[in-house]
Amino acid sequence: MVSRVIPVDSFDLVIFGGTGDLARRKILPGLFRRFCAGQMPPEAQIVGAARTEMDDAGFRDMVRAAIDEFGGGAEDPGQLDSFLERVGYVAVDAKGDGGWKALKDRLRDDCVRAFYFSVGPALFGDLAERLRAFGLATETSRIVVEKPFGHDLESARALNRELAQYFDETQIYRIDHYLGKETVQNLMAVRFGNVLFEPLWNAQFVDHIQITVAETVGVGGRGGYYDDSGAMRDMVQNHLMQLLCLIAMEPPAQFEPDSVRDEKLKVIRALDPVEPHHIVRGQYGADEKQPGYRAHVENERSRTESFVALKAHVSNWRWAGTPFYLRTGKMLRARTSEIAVVFKDAPHSIFGAEAGRHNNVLAIRLQPNEGMTLDVTIKEPGPGGMRLVDVPLDMTFADALGPDGANVPDAYERLVMDVIRGNQTLFMRGDEVEAAWAWTDPMIDGWEARGDVPKPYDPGSSGPEDALMLLHRDGRRWRDIKA
Ligand code: NAD
Repeated sequence: MVSRVIPVDSFDLVIFGGTGDLARRKILPGLFRRFCAGQMPPEAQIVGAARTEMDDAGFRDMVRAAIDEFGGGAEDPGQLDSFLERVGYVAVDAKGDGGWKALKDRLRDDCVRAFYFSVGPALFGDLAERLRAFGLATETSRIVVEKPFGHDLESARALNRELAQYFDETQIYRIDHYLGKETVQNLMAVRFGNVLFEPLWNAQFVDHIQITVAETVGVGGRGGYYDDSGAMRDMVQNHLMQLLCLIAMEPPAQFEPDSVRDEKLKVIRALDPVEPHHIVRGQYGADEKQPGYRAHVENERSRTESFVALKAHVSNWRWAGTPFYLRTGKMLRARTSEIAVVFKDAPHSIFGAEAGRHNNVLAIRLQPNEGMTLDVTIKEPGPGGMRLVDVPLDMTFADALGPDGANVPDAYERLVMDVIRGNQTLFMRGDEVEAAWAWTDPMIDGWEARGDVPKPYDPGSSGPEDALMLLHRDGRRWRDIKA
């Protein structure tokens, strides 16, 4: 199956923080892959903008090195040279006046204009203000804002208010790169493009839902930032929340930005407050290879969680009584992200007790090997009577779609192209972000007020024992964390 590439309109894209880690690892290599795929018009222009003094040639060398390291390189070396001709650089100070006039002079009037804020959140307001003050922002310009979007409800509201002084909501693209993943969009296609699932997608037929985002790495070089936020702020408030919304939302009337985002918002607003005994926080300890979390963040008294598991309820007609179990953590057994919809047992087994209990599970894998499996109960082959086994119907995209499907675009590639197209469906709206904070803030305030200390867990494990108990108490078990 060959995927169709529809070229976007001509654009000027300015990447503030163009010399930073995110730009080098994701944004620039992603743009290069879109260029190779023929999606970028030849006259499109990418301008790196950051504090470092550098000329176009210096930036192009940096971009070439980034693409070699993170972009898989070019099949045809000429392609990289042609791409680099589209790339330039202007030194700009987000907090000062330097460079803004030169940047303005670089931009064209007759094309889409987008500004990617790939800088720390403290600079978002400064950039927005200066884009207006120096006349770079036009009525159709877009800004792309990276995470974290606020630290709590109050700071997110303040940031929304600040950006709203300079840009209309239709011009603001708040990135959650989970929404750019192929499988996440496929989740909507599976739900709303087939008649098979939607009739069963409710409390009557679904026993519970599990959402797991597990990492094998620790906090790495982000210790200071991470210790200030923790797993709830860094992962649950945004990524896991977005996945929960797409699983739980009602069918939107159209696949259009506000239709989809209205439905997601309703889910967040229908979430019950989470009881403290339905939350488990963990912090990884040391092993023979490396020190533990507290040493990584250089804070021997840290009470920040590197793992969190919780049981949530969406109180609406569709989901009343169906638990949503969420967990995410660092230094776990395997790197995997998965949503599992666990259906109820058949109401009556005609095969007798020895056939065992069986239920269908639809597992949606975000990584590794993006794809889906549906566990179906069949007869165990052979002459041994009617014994039942669960067998996965496997739809790994790389297998199902052939060599082209294996080349699934990275989330950032797709999202940047959506910005140019002016499609906000896969971006978070301001009220959505605020509603998500309004749900997570009381949990965080609660454990801070109680002085809760996260439970220790071993690196390479599935998290603290208490997280296993969270499901065990309900007569359920987590799916294995495996690659
Ligand atoms: P970084 O520290 O590597 O880069 C920051 C960039 O901002 C640099 O290019 C620097 O020159 C520029 N900058 C700093 N101060 C400036 C100023 N006053 N004026 C102009 N430019 C200035 O950071 P990063 O890891 O690339 O992250 C950028 C943003 O993306 C952050 O908001 C981060 O939270 C978010 N993010 C990063 C990742 C990642 O994988 N790195 C993932 C998700 C979100």
